[in-house]
Amino acid sequence: MSARERIAYLRGLIEGQNVAENTNMTKFQEALMGALDSIAEELDDVSEAQDDLREYVEDLEDEVMDLRSELDPDMVAGRCGCGNVSDDDDDDEDEEEYEATTCQRCGKDFFYQPDAYDDDEDLLCPHCGEPFKG
Ligand SMILES: [Zn+2]
Repeated sequence: MSARERIAYLRGLIEGQNVAENTNMTKFQEALMGALDSIAEELDDVSEAQDDLREYVEDLEDEVMDLRSELDPDMVAGRCGCGNVSDDDDDDEDEEEYEATTCQRCGKDFFYQPDAYDDDEDLLCPHCGEPFKG
């Protein structure tokens, strides 16, 4: 049983006793129940404060982890090690870069992805279908 449940149980006992004896709560009993209710309320407040504190500590832990990551680049993949956060690497991987070229056989322009070809690989013209050196 929690403290609050014990207090509720005690209040029930006292009130039941008063009903049975057909008397009002004595000053002592009222004071006792008031004190116990206050304790129960304060316990709830302490529990809430503890929850808030736990969240705060968890946030702090996250921030400390972030700070450590920035101080120690080896902890995080994708950092260049110079201490700056660089987005360049990611952009190169995600973006498909096209280059315009002109077919040496039919003379028409088209776009191709230089990354998709080896340096000594022939380009394939989409207009005439003929390979040529880019
Ligand atoms: Zn062509």
